Amino acid sequence: MISKAGNIYTLVDSRTNKSGQNNVMVNGEGSDLSKVDALKGRAKRKTITQIMMLKLIEIAQEEGEPELEKSYWNTYYCQQNLFTADGRLYGKYCKNRFCTLCCSIRKAELINKYYPILKQWKEPYFLTLTVKSCNAYNLPRYIKKFIFGFQRITEKHRKRFQRGKGKRLMGIRSLECNFNPVKKTYNPHFHIITKDKETAQVLLSEWLELWTPRFAKRPAQNMQRVDDLESGLIEIIKYGSKIFTEPDLKKRSNKKGNAQIYIKALNTILTGMKGKRIFDRFGFNLPKSLNTEEIPAKLLSDYNEWEYDIASADWINILTGEKLCGYELPPYLNAVLENNINSSLV
Ligand SMILES: [Zn+2]
Repeated sequence: MISKAGNIYTLVDSRTNKSGQNNVMVNGEGSDLSKVDALKGRAKRKTITQIMMLKLIEIAQEEGEPELEKSYWNTYYCQQNLFTADGRLYGKYCKNRFCTLCCSIRKAELINKYYPILKQWKEPYFLTLTVKSCNAYNLPRYIKKFIFGFQRITEKHRKRFQRGKGKRLMGIRSLECNFNPVKKTYNPHFHIITKDKETAQVLLSEWLELWTPRFAKRPAQNMQRVDDLESGLIEIIKYGSKIFTEPDLKKRSNKKGNAQIYIKALNTILTGMKGKRIFDRFGFNLPKSLNTEEIPAKLLSDYNEWEYDIASADWINILTGEKLCGYELPPYLNAVLENNINSSLV
């Protein structure tokens, strides 16, 4: 059974309100309770996340990784209990990068932060940098070389620029990793938006030089003008790793029910990315005034409490038994989560 972990919410004191509940302290401004579709999306993400986490916890236990196991548990309990009051909904977020609930919030935050800056760039370019796919054993060192190699390139040009030569490279980048279940290989790659074409060209040629033709060939890299900044930005910001992988990469017209979740591969990717900066900017800072305002915690005394129930794929009112949003897991997704989580060693 799911027990209420101590960190889900904070009890303020032992006073109780008229319905016999304790007062509860919540953070943030909450979300709009009237947006039912958004709530259903949240229920869907919560359901996927919780099922995935149980599988990942098993793997972490098998492989003796208590730290990772602990973070998987935190994500398992992400928004386990929700509180509603005055048309707003409050919950506690785990903030782990592999949590689909937290990712969608973080995505929105990053877009709001970066869009106003990127909008001012006259000719932004989209760049994808990658290398030859590798096996699970080599993935951690590939990821390390991605992060530190890229840093070395931007650092080198920053110093040159300071000496009055060359160009300051400016942009944002995010690291992503795909898994190919047919070949059982991993393909880490950077999605980058640069301020201009020249920056993209410099990065591209430095990248090819860093990895040498044996690992990185020009045709595998992609460089193009950004046509639609907003969707380009969204592409960059959806960080982390893809949770769903199609079983046959060649089959373009895949049916939804064919999707597979390769849980061991996902654990390999998450382990390799642990402690690494997945999303980063280079060559510029965000304005200081932005996003420093903290919303004070609020005390609720008259509220409803809801606890997530996996069998209902929804949050249930702990007093009335009522469902929060009436979400129903679509049959294809249910089938994927029940039958298509592939735990075999890859
Ligand atoms: Zn979370």
